[in-house]
Amino acid sequence: MTSPADLFALQELDLKHDARRALIADIESRLAETEALIAARETVAEATAALDGLRRQQHDLDIKLTDLDAKIKPLEERLYGGSVRNPKELTDLQKEDEGLKARRRVLDDEALSLIETVEAATGALNAAQGGLRRTEIDWQADQERLRADQTQAQQESARLQEERSLRTQGMDRSALGLYENLRKAKQGRGVARIERTTCQGCRVSLPTHVVQRVRTGATLVQCPRCERILVGS
Ligand SMILES: [Zn+2]
Repeated sequence: MTSPADLFALQELDLKHDARRALIADIESRLAETEALIAARETVAEATAALDGLRRQQHDLDIKLTDLDAKIKPLEERLYGGSVRNPKELTDLQKEDEGLKARRRVLDDEALSLIETVEAATGALNAAQGGLRRTEIDWQADQERLRADQTQAQQESARLQEERSLRTQGMDRSALGLYENLRKAKQGRGVARIERTTCQGCRVSLPTHVVQRVRTGATLVQCPRCERILVGS
């Protein structure tokens, strides 16, 4: 016969195994990239995109300035070169020159303020990259520790599985079946000790005849209230 003490010992083993399995599941969920790492990477991507956008603006502005200079230069050669003598024509050229120069001043101001913005964006990108590096270093260290813990938990789990197979080999099928069903129904604890006359599964005081039947150990006795298999202390 399979004694309640055998089943209690099996339960201790199964509870240990449950804890290992929960630990393995927890480790596996943490072996993925963390939110902090994903967020740090996004911050770098955003800062890079912002800086790229500003550099494109600078490039566009440079082209506009070059185009403008290409117009101003020949205009001023005509204006001051002495080849144009007609006063009306000279006035028109002067107006056009002033207009182009005014436009150039606006673009120069834009270029200056853009330089400052680019400097700030470069600083933000450097800070974001530094943050990402630190987060990666922490994450990497965590990963190594987690992988070591995972290997250890897996080895322990395999050992417990082997031990369980050995332990259940000689057990009575119906006793084992009852234990398995109760284990499922009672959050892993299908066997309960009796302390004095109290079932430690549900804390109810047991009738004397139940306690006596457990003590004789002839059959498996279940708690009349929580149905757990009772084991004497
Ligand atoms: Zn009970």
